[in-house]
Amino acid sequence: MFPPRSPERVQNAHTRIIPIYEFLAKYERWIAASGGDNCDFALGNPQTMPLDEFVVALRDATTPKDKSWYGYKMNELSSREIVCGSLNKLTGFAYPPENIFMTNGATGALLVTMNALIGPDDEVIFNSPPWFFYEGMILNSGGRPVAVNVDPNTFDLDLDGIEKAITDRTRFIIINSPNNPTGKVYSPDVLVKLSSILDRASKNLGHPIYLVSDEAYRAVVYDGAKFHSPTKFYKNSIMIYTYGKTLLTPGQRIGYIALSPRMDHLEELRTILYSSQILSGWAMTSALMQHCLRDLEKISLDVNALQRRRDRFVRGLRECGYEVRTPEGAFYITPKAPIEDDGAFADILAKEGVFCLPGSVVNMNGYLRASLTASDDMIERALPIFAAARNKVQGQCRSDSK
Ligand code: PMP
Repeated sequence: MFPPRSPERVQNAHTRIIPIYEFLAKYERWIAASGGDNCDFALGNPQTMPLDEFVVALRDATTPKDKSWYGYKMNELSSREIVCGSLNKLTGFAYPPENIFMTNGATGALLVTMNALIGPDDEVIFNSPPWFFYEGMILNSGGRPVAVNVDPNTFDLDLDGIEKAITDRTRFIIINSPNNPTGKVYSPDVLVKLSSILDRASKNLGHPIYLVSDEAYRAVVYDGAKFHSPTKFYKNSIMIYTYGKTLLTPGQRIGYIALSPRMDHLEELRTILYSSQILSGWAMTSALMQHCLRDLEKISLDVNALQRRRDRFVRGLRECGYEVRTPEGAFYITPKAPIEDDGAFADILAKEGVFCLPGSVVNMNGYLRASLTASDDMIERALPIFAAARNKVQGQCRSDSK
């Protein structure tokens, strides 16, 4: 009789993620049509076999050692202590175990944080181009997303833009370093300046503006560069982490939220985060993943191999005439499409079995995003196809490259 009607909040959130839905619908058709023989750079999904150590850790952890092995699990003390040990090495800070919340990857961690912190019409600043679910998630939590574009030449944070975007409704800012999709790793200098802006604004407003640091790719930094956690520079920081990228196993959901030990109003925040975890659908890591966490902490994907793949891909694309920057971290390279319509160009490549994400899906109009989680062989097979596709559209020059 009546079509289902969801509240405006949910509808708004849905509208923001339509571009990615539309892409996913196409992507599924492409995958089905390719019969498995394709070069898939579209999403960050692994195109190589999982790490042996990961499989062994999981297999060992399946054998129950007590009656409650597969019982309800919360933020288990043993898991929290393991995370505190690793954060102590990363940041130099002593995290108390109560500051760690074990979640279903970074999406779970972000959702729990947003549900805990965002009130109606509260504003959340994010940097654009962003990870494609930030906007929808903010809207779905009842907030208002406020985009600040990064510097188009350096991909660095636009600190003046961020300062101007702060209002008395600003609840937090999301910082994602190394960045998806730009590959930028923010320097300590930029993070110190950001921290002064947030401190100043918090003082003026009389309440803290939080920094939510999405560190999904922090293990993936190239050329010997060092990752600096934004949380080291600002006390009211909430760290978001996932093991899905470090281990290249995004389907085995495990991650966490870590509240900075220097945070104001720690006790209150812990309480609302805990409630938010339960009320967001028992948003805790599964029993099995918590059992093998100690082993998972010791494993990582091979960043040197990924760097070699990045170098080969970037060099190969440049040789066939593409403009492409070398990312400093994360999984993605973003070549400029040779025609303005990145969606149309992604379609041309897809017809030949090479799948990339059109940049317009992530506010990077005119670009493609290609993930390095592909295999080396895929890159070798795809490069001639990239070259041929570029030659094919040569007549239809981009107006901005004339
Ligand atoms: N943040 C960023 C920047 C991401 O790229 C992703 C996944 N692509 C996530 C969060 C979500 O991570 P997870 O799969 O652990 O939920």
